[in-house]
Amino acid sequence: MSLEKPEAIIIGGGFAGLSLAVFLAELGYQITLFEKKPLLGGRTYAFVDRKTKCWVDNGQHLLMGAYHETLRFVDTIGANYALCSQKQENVPLILDSGEKINFKNHLIGILGLKALSWKDKFNLISLYRSLKNLNKLASLTVRQWLVNEGQSLKSQKNFWDILTLATLNDDPEVACAKNLATVIKKGLLGNAHDARMIFPKTNLNDLLAKPAKAYLELRGHKIIRDSQVDCIHILDKKIQSVELTDGTEYRANLYVSAIPFQGLLQIIPPGFVDSLPYFSNLKKLETSPIVSINLWYDKEIFEDFFVGSAYGSVHWFFNRNRISDVTHPPYHYMGVISGARHLLDSSRDEILEIAKKEIEILFPKAKEATLIHSLVNKEREATLSPTPASELLRPEVQSPFENFLVIGDWVKTELPATIESAVVSAKLAAEIAKARLKIEETKVSLAG
Ligand SMILES: Cc1cc2nc3c(=O)[nH]c(=O)nc-3n(C[C@H](O)[C@H](O)[C@H](O)COP(=O)(O)OP(=O)(O)OC[C@H]3O[C@@H](n4cnc5c(N)ncnc54)[C@H](O)[C@@H]3O)c2cc1C
Repeated sequence: MSLEKPEAIIIGGGFAGLSLAVFLAELGYQITLFEKKPLLGGRTYAFVDRKTKCWVDNGQHLLMGAYHETLRFVDTIGANYALCSQKQENVPLILDSGEKINFKNHLIGILGLKALSWKDKFNLISLYRSLKNLNKLASLTVRQWLVNEGQSLKSQKNFWDILTLATLNDDPEVACAKNLATVIKKGLLGNAHDARMIFPKTNLNDLLAKPAKAYLELRGHKIIRDSQVDCIHILDKKIQSVELTDGTEYRANLYVSAIPFQGLLQIIPPGFVDSLPYFSNLKKLETSPIVSINLWYDKEIFEDFFVGSAYGSVHWFFNRNRISDVTHPPYHYMGVISGARHLLDSSRDEILEIAKKEIEILFPKAKEATLIHSLVNKEREATLSPTPASELLRPEVQSPFENFLVIGDWVKTELPATIESAVVSAKLAAEIAKARLKIEETKVSLAG
């Protein structure tokens, strides 16, 4: 390894790949990053709506104050301006009865929550106690855990299920209890700063793709878009090169995969996938979809930044104009359905009808407003499905090949598969890369 200029190849330009590029650049690595699409950002991107010519996010992304590594990274690339913190103190929640309540998203707020009976609140003592040993929760689903801890069906439907879907993007029947417990511990039981919700107020490209690209290119690193890595070549337990679909080969000292597990299985030669459990286990992982329904009205139909709902199919309604400080029409709202497997075969018109109907019941002003435009976006492979089985299979960042690291929201980070998990995985990879540099330095000084 040349100490002056160690080279790293990163495959994939989402949150994980771009944050690692920045971390490795800070360590002195020369970066070449390959992204198969024309646009950087991965699953965090915005596109131009054909009719309105406006930028629309692929789905509402929500961060928390507890996303420490993500917030530091966003600050480093100078994109802090693209975020805004929850201004409203209360989180509005619509119960299954249609009644609207407010709660504060921290411990005291939950104790005051109307959706929980006195018995549910008393049983929180035992639930909080079970947070002391998260590993004990690894084999349970959220539903099993909540039932064991004496949470009533009503409290599950009106609070816990919405929290699970929003933070883990899957049904409490299948999602792993350890993941929800982590969210409660780091978010709700953290300090007020960690519990606050943070929204991208610009489109997602301004938060990630544009500033990260500018940061890296200004410092002389290469970001090569429209370039898909087709396979990696392995010899003597080391990566020798990566080959693009056009046949060109690139070499470096360190190689990092920052792509989802389905893609990783495509670029590893099949013989290695079959013989190494590190890779063959990835075949057992599954994903969970998110459906977003964008609605533009001529009048404002509610004023809150966002509203959670246990009433029907749509779990959250976001007020894009309020979040982005836009005070003029059209008024853009985004409905979000998490863990939306049941809707994958429904047509966009059918999904739109479901959302419109619910909005008109929950926000009566919608009946007096004109729906100007709508757009339904299905992200089929939005996140890793966080089952107890998949939690056991999430791989370590260090692969069986010494010079090959694997990062992404889905690898083992002790966090749900979120943006923060993607950036934490990059941080773990940067620590390994730093240690490699130290070893090389020691070798050189011993030789000298
Ligand atoms: C609709 C939606 C809403 C979400 N909401 C939230 C939220 O509110 N909060 C939250 O924390 N998280 C949310 N997430 C999850 C979040 O988007 C992901 O956790 C995060 O973007 C994952 O980043 P990543 O870098 O690990 O992977 P990705 O973003 O998937 O990046 C991988 C990149 O690799 C590229 N690639 C793949 N194969 C190759 C190849 N062979 N060669 C070159 N490039 C390749 C891909 O094109 C992609 O750009 C949401 C996701 C979706 C889809």
